[in-house]
Amino acid sequence: MSHLAHHPNLIAGQWRDGPGVRADINPSDTTDVVGYYSTADAEQAGEAVAAVAAAAPGWAATPGAARGEILDRAGTELLGRSAELGEQLAREEGKTLPEAVAEVARAGQLLKFHAGQALRNAGEHLDSVRPGVEVTVTREPVGVVSIITPWNFPIAIPAWKIAPALAYGNTVVFKPAESVPASAWALVDALHRAGLPPGVLNLVMGRGRDIGDILTGSPEVGAISLTGSVSTGERVLRAATRRRARVQLEMGGKNPLIIADDADLDLAVEVALHGSYGSTGQRCTASSRLVVADRLHDEFVDKLWTRLEKWQVGDARAEGTDMGPVVDAQQLAQDLHYIEIARKEGAQLLGGEQLERERPGYYLQPALLVGTGNDDTVNREEIFGPVASVIRVADYDEAVSVANDTEFGLTAGIVTRSLARAGDFRRRSTAGMVMVNVPTAGVDFHVPFGGRGASSYGPREQGTAAREFFTATKTSYIAAGVPD
Ligand code: NAD
Repeated sequence: MSHLAHHPNLIAGQWRDGPGVRADINPSDTTDVVGYYSTADAEQAGEAVAAVAAAAPGWAATPGAARGEILDRAGTELLGRSAELGEQLAREEGKTLPEAVAEVARAGQLLKFHAGQALRNAGEHLDSVRPGVEVTVTREPVGVVSIITPWNFPIAIPAWKIAPALAYGNTVVFKPAESVPASAWALVDALHRAGLPPGVLNLVMGRGRDIGDILTGSPEVGAISLTGSVSTGERVLRAATRRRARVQLEMGGKNPLIIADDADLDLAVEVALHGSYGSTGQRCTASSRLVVADRLHDEFVDKLWTRLEKWQVGDARAEGTDMGPVVDAQQLAQDLHYIEIARKEGAQLLGGEQLERERPGYYLQPALLVGTGNDDTVNREEIFGPVASVIRVADYDEAVSVANDTEFGLTAGIVTRSLARAGDFRRRSTAGMVMVNVPTAGVDFHVPFGGRGASSYGPREQGTAAREFFTATKTSYIAAGVPD
């Protein structure tokens, strides 16, 4: 081990070394170790679950205002440290520095938004259908919550789950993705120092296959919120439903972006460029299917490729980098595998070459697959890299039917000048989020987030909608007029 600081797990308010340790590697330079992070085993994860359960009654009884103050303090810290923590995030995950700094700032905003929500947990008071009886509907914490997150938004996704969980009075055991622990650790550290009582938020790092079952299967855990792949989601769903725990899943996407025949071409190119290749295409909301009207098809492909060809692929933290590396060797192999499949199935490939840079890293040129059909493998399965395919369609109706022809349903976009088409698409899309003349990726934090089909399961995340999952409804009937 090097001189780099070792980062332990947080259990019952104590920073504790785990039985294992993992190096956090920079995908822009695989000789660079970001830091060393403890990994937990099943025994330590079990201790974390016990600590969360022990802390639950006290935190539930803490006034919302006090809970909110802690979240607000941590949010202020993240906003103040967004440059420093953004640098660390770009270094461990590989998105560009501006993207990473913005993500840390988003995490700060999320904490502050839910700090306010902690005080707005209002109920309802109604007359009963029976005379002399009144009804109140209130919201209570669910109790112990497991939060499990993926690598592609290492601080924003943890923040958007942890903040409402804590705001509404739940206690949390949190497992970040094993490959990006540094941002998650910084978030937990900020919340811990902001004044969370021991056991209210616990951090256990490590692999899903080692500790996942404890987090999803322990009887104390009342709710599980996971963002990850479809296969992990299905496994967690089975574990949760077996014992009737609540479950909220955000999973994959195969998001379409329609370029209608009346689109502003330059706008269409910008929307596709950033929606498909921003954050190295490693976003569940990325536009991976570009559904283009026949009339604009050739010009759109030419213009998009001309822009893309000039993109600088390089070190995530270097000035002028448009796209950082792929996150790790496994994801790079997956991207190349799908590019090869597309080629075999007859797509014309633009880009998609593995690149060498000064330092060893997982560099991939953006790939544009032209001449694909919606039944091709690359248009059915999530790739999760800087790879987008173009599907040519005759008209708007065909575009809508291609867009909706997917097992997923997270986001869907259209570029059009027609208000009527924008409205029509909003109604006919089968996705959970619809974007008109803006990229399919890039969402606000104060409104619901989530999809349909294989993309999501359970109540929506974010905004005021987050309350649905993180609270349990209680309906009380009170006959107030009973004499002594
Ligand atoms: P993943 O499913 O491999 O891992 C997600 C998390 O689950 C990690 O923390 C992992 O350790 C954990 N995990 C793995 N096996 C587990 C088990 N048996 N029990 C409990 N936890 C387990 O996903 P990933 O590769 O980290 O992330 C990429 C995936 O996430 C993509 O499919 C992407 O679409 C999806 N994603 C979805 C959204 C969304 O909001 N819909 C957002 C971001 C990413």
